[in-house]
Amino acid sequence: MKVTLISPYEIGRQPFGLAQPAAWLDRAGFDVWCIDLAQERLSRDRIEGAGMIALYLAMHTATRIAVEAIPKIREINPGATLVVYGLYAPMNRELFEELGAAAVLGGESEPDIVAVAQAVRDGTEIPASVTRLEKIDFVMPDRRALPPLERYADLILPDNSRKMVAFAEATRGCKHLCRHCPVVPVYEGKFRVVPVDIIIDDISGQVQRGATHVSFGDPDFLNGPGHARRVIKALKERHPQITFDATVKVEHIIKHADMLPVMADAGCLFLTTAVESVDDDVLRKLDKGHTRQEFELALESLREVGIAMAPTFVPFNPWTTIDGYRELLERISSLGLVEAVAPVQLSIRLLIPKGSWMLRIDGFEELIKPFDETMLGYPWDHQDPAVDALQQRVMTIAMHGEDNKRARADVFADIWREAHAGVSVPPLPDVVSERVPSLSEPWYCCAEPTEMQLQAI
Ligand code: SF4
Repeated sequence: MKVTLISPYEIGRQPFGLAQPAAWLDRAGFDVWCIDLAQERLSRDRIEGAGMIALYLAMHTATRIAVEAIPKIREINPGATLVVYGLYAPMNRELFEELGAAAVLGGESEPDIVAVAQAVRDGTEIPASVTRLEKIDFVMPDRRALPPLERYADLILPDNSRKMVAFAEATRGCKHLCRHCPVVPVYEGKFRVVPVDIIIDDISGQVQRGATHVSFGDPDFLNGPGHARRVIKALKERHPQITFDATVKVEHIIKHADMLPVMADAGCLFLTTAVESVDDDVLRKLDKGHTRQEFELALESLREVGIAMAPTFVPFNPWTTIDGYRELLERISSLGLVEAVAPVQLSIRLLIPKGSWMLRIDGFEELIKPFDETMLGYPWDHQDPAVDALQQRVMTIAMHGEDNKRARADVFADIWREAHAGVSVPPLPDVVSERVPSLSEPWYCCAEPTEMQLQAI
């Protein structure tokens, strides 16, 4: 039986979330096809004739694109059994059931994806929707049906040269419980490790296809520091010339400082770090597990070993003030981070999906409106309309800068001026910000689908 796996969007990565279930389905005897809507159109011939079609909802944008794609998929193949899986599937279960999904799967979904496919093939009852957190036996990801790596995000080095990037995941889930994080409602503080030999073999396959840098997509690479150490050691032994990046929280950078020289020695170029805010009160509300001072300490520790930090932020939240936003810009500039922060990060607005642990904050419901089925979240207006207006203007500047490939420093200067509209604009701190390596697709997962993304459907 033909099974088609679809990834609507995954920030420029070749999705492990397709490659892993593809391997499981292939092993179980299915004829597996993949469509990555971030790279190709919704191909009729891969939809037609499929007995099961499964959409991978790794992030908010992907989920919004999936909502638009499902009617088209059903029009092409009304008889296929529809499945959704990934982080955003369980939290939007009712919606996807209404759209016709026979199974909504979360967590470690591969055994359940195979079980549904087997039920469709054998004409037996479709197993119930489930979020599985038990350990599974990962297999070697099968990337054969995915678009080639050349089509995905590149690494851009400070001298503007580029490297082809391999994508890997060493763990899934997370042991932390940051309130705004979409991993939390599904994994509830658990994470699962992919065996080292599978990770390294998967990377080796991508290196053979030309990759010279690995981007680890784990929610947090140092959730299991012992595992991370083994992965890095094996990577260095097998591919001493390969560089890599990963995502690591501030708390782990400080707590596992002994890992930093090991990572630098093994080729770590930069770490994406969810700093979110420089306001300790907001950080407490988000339950981030770090303070502003610890963010600055983490930055220092990374710089000491020659690893760049790529901080991410949620600058617009119900507690943002105009002064607080100006202060955030001032800190980014004073710390020499202007070139390290993708401008879109300066425009991010807190997203509150269904099931978000933000809803557990006392009195939080008073700050938000009823759930919106179109935006797949709880909308909120800031009590000061000037903050919302500033967010819109910053978003426009950031998007325009992205579209026109403007230098980050120039976009930052425009945002700085905009944040000081109506008052005399202070000069930017006189601190040099060095360019750092970055991926060609900026890291953020909560945007509305763009026209271009929707055109793929
Ligand atoms: S550490 Fe990162 S992945 Fe883990 S819960 Fe916090 S924000 Fe989410």
